[in-house]
Amino acid sequence: MIDQEDRIPVLIVGAGGAGLALSLLLHQQGIASVLIERRPDVSWYPRARNLNFPTLEVFRGLGLEAQVIAAGAHFSRTLRKATLASHGEEEFPSIEQFLHIADHLEVVTPEPPFWYCPQGRLEPLLLGEAKRRGCDVRYNTELTSFNPDSEGVSATITDRATGTLSVLQADYLLAADGAHSQIRKVLGVNGEGLGVLDEHYVFVYFRALWGELIRGYENDAILIDRQPRLLPDHRCGSWHVLDPRKIREGLHRRAV
Ligand SMILES: Cc1cc2nc3c(=O)[nH]c(=O)nc-3n(C[C@H](O)[C@H](O)[C@H](O)COP(=O)(O)OP(=O)(O)OC[C@H]3O[C@@H](n4cnc5c(N)ncnc54)[C@H](O)[C@@H]3O)c2cc1C
Repeated sequence: MIDQEDRIPVLIVGAGGAGLALSLLLHQQGIASVLIERRPDVSWYPRARNLNFPTLEVFRGLGLEAQVIAAGAHFSRTLRKATLASHGEEEFPSIEQFLHIADHLEVVTPEPPFWYCPQGRLEPLLLGEAKRRGCDVRYNTELTSFNPDSEGVSATITDRATGTLSVLQADYLLAADGAHSQIRKVLGVNGEGLGVLDEHYVFVYFRALWGELIRGYENDAILIDRQPRLLPDHRCGSWHVLDPRKIREGLHRRAV
């Protein structure tokens, strides 16, 4: 049996930074919404790290500027070091430097150009505020299909804890389901740009006793510069330059 809920003005899919902010913005305008998220809880991964000043202005409009500033820190730098323990580093130009937004940004905005407040801190902050203001946010709840009709949209959602299906009728469906949005794919909305770049990174999150090594760099990204690296190849008497792409190709060849 499929439960049927009352019609709602807006269904938001995805409780990342975009979906949580949308829920608060609609609430501020007096528009009721239901925000659904398939994850069981907020994401604790840092992911999006630096907020730019237009984003900070949105939070100012929501009365959350002070909280976001307090949860964050100075703009995050990107540095290169030979090893984490090495002395000396190369600092990459900051976004501020190569974007050069304005000579006197203070004329444009009272906000700093960028502020480090990673997603793992921002999402709990936005969720806490959404709950406090009475927004309807449901985790463990996944959009499984939807049908646009003349009235709006009919969405089938699954409670991932129980497997229960229900149908929500909404006037509008807001797709905040991330960079790989299924909703966008179903609707045939294409992105523009360079497409998939030939660069791949593996992020490994771990805990370690490394306070000494990262003191002063807590909010920064450090590239450990061990590539390209020369390795002797005794079989063919040559030297190989290892780079991540070649390693990837090698792994792919081994996989097939
Ligand atoms: C490893 C990694 C590192 C990154 N580093 C950076 C960085 O340094 N700086 C930076 O600016 N950006 C970074 N990003 C990108 C950043 O995470 C995204 O730009 C940002 O999360 C986009 O926010 P969003 O709210 O649009 O989408 P998301 O945060 O992706 O949120 C979308 C949400 O929709 C949910 N969802 C999807 N489909 C459904 C469905 N059918 N039903 C219910 N829920 C659904 C997902 O579970 C997800 O929580 C990184 C991303 C990754 C993966």
